[in-house]
Amino acid sequence: MSEFERLKLLSSQMHLEPTEGDECPQMADRKQDAIYTSQAALPNGQRIKLLKTLLTSACERDCLYCPFRAGRDFRRASFEPEEFAKVFMYMYKAGMVEGIFLSSGVVKGGVTTQDQLLATAEILRRKHQYQGYLHLKVMPGAERAQVEQAMLLADRLSVNLEAPNSQRLSLLAPHKDFAHELLEPLRWADQIRREQSPHKAWKGRWPSTVTQFVVGGADESDLELLATTEQLHRQMGLTRAYFSRFNPIVNTPLEDHPPTPLERQNRLYQASFLIRDYGFTLEEMPFANEGNLPLEVDPKLAWAQQALQGAPVEINTAPRELLLRVPGIGPKGAEAILRSRRQHKLLDLSQLSRLGIAARKASPYILLNGAQPARQLPLFQDKR
Ligand code: SF4
Repeated sequence: MSEFERLKLLSSQMHLEPTEGDECPQMADRKQDAIYTSQAALPNGQRIKLLKTLLTSACERDCLYCPFRAGRDFRRASFEPEEFAKVFMYMYKAGMVEGIFLSSGVVKGGVTTQDQLLATAEILRRKHQYQGYLHLKVMPGAERAQVEQAMLLADRLSVNLEAPNSQRLSLLAPHKDFAHELLEPLRWADQIRREQSPHKAWKGRWPSTVTQFVVGGADESDLELLATTEQLHRQMGLTRAYFSRFNPIVNTPLEDHPPTPLERQNRLYQASFLIRDYGFTLEEMPFANEGNLPLEVDPKLAWAQQALQGAPVEINTAPRELLLRVPGIGPKGAEAILRSRRQHKLLDLSQLSRLGIAARKASPYILLNGAQPARQLPLFQDKR
């Protein structure tokens, strides 16, 4: 197989790995070759064409849900670090891609595989002077020194927990050690960030860390997933968790396990952002008996229907943290309200709408200068 054929094969197999808020895969360059890239949003909000790929799709592990598991019959491909870096730099210089997320199947153990990823990153950064975005995967079983080296080279690191605890992980990947192989590298990354100066790190700052969960594959509850996510944010400086709904893959032991609805994945993202960015606590999430969020209503609206129905929020005086609890008002909307009300009172929904707020959604839960605004709705067009 040519280098481009291998890269096409490897990148096409990466759609299961959500990163950087990416969208559907696209072809990087239809004229020259069909290598898959994603439009991805970087932590700074910039959107780039991201190449998501593996160094090798061979793997000696046997995670029950994974298309790359050992012994599964499908076409695999591999790169050596030097040849991969060369192909990537060709694409980068040709403007076909603007950044990279590099992962790998496990071959000869996590330590050896991590060395291959690190060698590729070193070649890109030192030999080719690659300045662009680099997201590196930390392999299960990587050593602390390898995590530290990765932190010197990458913009972002990911350690995929896959499940919220060791018991659930045993139903997805019975040979992975949750505490030692997965949680420990996240802990090391946090320690390194806290204890060491980032002056030798790439661009003089430490990379962020993220993780991914396979939602529904181990019959875990939303409460388990969000409790672990909340702990990781609080105790290990995790930037964000990705929730990837389980989809059965043929010829894997979980091929008959039902797929997880997309709506569940979306509700988990909404709840995790409410806890991370909006000041909500885990206990305030509207879990039903089995510890799952309702699918039919977003968690903020469900909370407001209970908590704000008889206690609407006065938009002209409420502090930021209370504004953020109103459905339809996000961090940018709350800032806009605070700025605007320093100039003048906010008296009707059209003013809120002009500030970028979903006024129709907010209206049952707010007061504008002491008055309930719901009756103003027909007076203006707010389709949000
Ligand atoms: S180690 Fe990674 S690539 Fe290998 S089978 Fe498990 S999830 Fe798949």
